[in-house]
Amino acid sequence: MTVDAHKETLEFKAEVSQVLDLVIRSLYSNKEIFLRELISNASDAAEKLRFESLTDEQLLEDDPNLRVRVLVDKDAGTVTVSDNGIGINRQEMVDTIGSIASSGTRQFADALRAAQGAAEHGEAEKGQAAGEELIGQFGVGFYSSFIVAERVSVISRRAGLSAEHGVCWQSEGHGRYTLETIEKASRGTDVVLHLKEEEKEFLDPWRLRTIIGKFSDHIAMPVEMLKEDLGGDEDEEKQADKAPEFEQVNRGTALWMRNKAELSDDDYKAFYKHISHDFEEPLAWAHNRVEGTNEYTALLYLPKRAPWDMWDREQKHGVKLYVRRVFIMDEADKLMPHWLRFVKGVVDSDDLPLNVSREILQHDRKIDTIRGANTKRVLSLLESLAKDEPEKYQTFWNEFGRVLKEGPAEDFANRERIGGLLRFASTHNETDEQSVSLDAYIERMKDGQKDLYYITADSPAAARHSPHLEVFRKKGVEVLLLSDRVDEWLVSNLHEYQGKHLQSVTKGKLDLGDLADKEEQEKAEQAEKEHEDLLKRLKDSLGERIEAVRVSTRLVDSPACIVVGEHEMSANLARVLKAVGQETPSMKPTLEVNLDHPLVRRLEAESDQGRFDDLSLIVLDQATLAEGGQLDDPSAFVGRLNKLMMNMFMSGA
Ligand code: ADP
Ligand code: MG
Repeated sequence: MTVDAHKETLEFKAEVSQVLDLVIRSLYSNKEIFLRELISNASDAAEKLRFESLTDEQLLEDDPNLRVRVLVDKDAGTVTVSDNGIGINRQEMVDTIGSIASSGTRQFADALRAAQGAAEHGEAEKGQAAGEELIGQFGVGFYSSFIVAERVSVISRRAGLSAEHGVCWQSEGHGRYTLETIEKASRGTDVVLHLKEEEKEFLDPWRLRTIIGKFSDHIAMPVEMLKEDLGGDEDEEKQADKAPEFEQVNRGTALWMRNKAELSDDDYKAFYKHISHDFEEPLAWAHNRVEGTNEYTALLYLPKRAPWDMWDREQKHGVKLYVRRVFIMDEADKLMPHWLRFVKGVVDSDDLPLNVSREILQHDRKIDTIRGANTKRVLSLLESLAKDEPEKYQTFWNEFGRVLKEGPAEDFANRERIGGLLRFASTHNETDEQSVSLDAYIERMKDGQKDLYYITADSPAAARHSPHLEVFRKKGVEVLLLSDRVDEWLVSNLHEYQGKHLQSVTKGKLDLGDLADKEEQEKAEQAEKEHEDLLKRLKDSLGERIEAVRVSTRLVDSPACIVVGEHEMSANLARVLKAVGQETPSMKPTLEVNLDHPLVRRLEAESDQGRFDDLSLIVLDQATLAEGGQLDDPSAFVGRLNKLMMNMFMSGA
């Protein structure tokens, strides 16, 4: 391309027009991002000049304060983004604005065609998603101007060139642009958007200011607007020769990029409120800079209180993603696992493309690395909180414990660390507060105790008073009391901790290992033989309702309890699933009876078969009720009980 000083008309490279169409179509729903893109380019240009001026101070001329300005001209219907940065010369205009910076590649054209193909074959959504992904990969930021503008002028002068070497690029975005050498007194670039009739809303300075606050608050460059535009006192401004006054409308410093040592707790707290819209202060935070092949900064916060919508599956979560100080997206959920969805904060990457889309985040290896590191950072933060500030940790746990309990299922690799952070109610305490850690449990384990025992039930009271705990209480063995819905999910994914097996006390044949009293064990086996008849009669009478009947070693005060197989779904889980409308396999429990209990002895002596049947059904139903279960036919139970009582009264007992 030869460069000449006269006005000339040039064609875009073929792909540019296609890309323009695509950009306008796929980004329309998000059109205000044009301002972010232009401010980002302007800020880049200023940062480039800042860098070059390190070796050539002359480049700054008499205007050393780098900044970006956003100006409105209501009469002309234009919005201008102006910078005093590095500027663009004529050839660079052709090379950068006139073509897609990183375009021309076969890959791009192919991908684009595929996207359009999908769109044309009626798969509009697929085409659009592919389009957004392309935009993310190829960075077509400047072209987003055409979402809102019918004509765009780029007026620029390269730093270091004299005023007459300015250049003006203009286009309506339909395949052609003009290029003209002009005079421009100040260095840098003005991008002038001649707004489409239907986009005149962007002539409102406050609208622009809001967008700047949203997207560009923490870019490192000040963004200024005219005081007058923002409602300064017009009379005063009207003094003819008064220089226009500007007001900085963004914060202009990226807090997370500042040195930790320079930042006070109050700075961190204020920033947390700013990004989280939380009125309360954060509980704790972690601020890290990572250097190397994947450079980024992460500033992560633990809130004090759970948001009201934490359990809403549809609710977005995640931290804010920035790329080189430019805001990219809120709630980048790929940067934080779902089980840490309460974490707020910022990740600022030096390596991702500025236009990265959610689709790209799905597949990017760098993102996986960042997520993995973020997870570890939050775990460390929680660990030190638990260790050094247990009260704060308890606050955290009470708010977010149920979310953290999803962790072992979702994150195999970090299971053990998550295990260390869990807290439970326990028979060790009287309260229902979840405050016992597995480590504390392990410290209190009895000599000869191998397993960590727990019970799941649908309320703290049902767990604490379950007949299954009787033998444990008698032997002074602690049992963890689990009654959150998520607990079933937790224990089906966390099978051991510190090499110790987590064992449900309601499952399988109770194996107390060395805790078991040999004598008792033998006595039970002996009893099993001696009372064979009773066990058989019970099984016959209860039939298909149960799997088997056996003598219990878990009971002290209760006549009977029900038990499921070691590898079967617990009765509690079956209830949880039923409550949310899920099909559960029908399971038959095993009935365990306490031969020392008078009721069982009375049953054994019963010769009337009708009475025996009624009594055994009552015993089974009671065992179900005692552990918080529901009866299939409650009125039948009540009927049998009433019959029993009537008999009692009539016989004068
Ligand atoms: P990207 O910013 O990802 O490179 P853009 O489409 O936003 O893509 O911009 C394309 C190129 O145009 C930039 O890389 C830069 O070379 C040039 N450019 C855009 N705006 C400016 C500006 N205000 N000052 C200097 N150069 C600019
Ligand atoms: Mg850009």
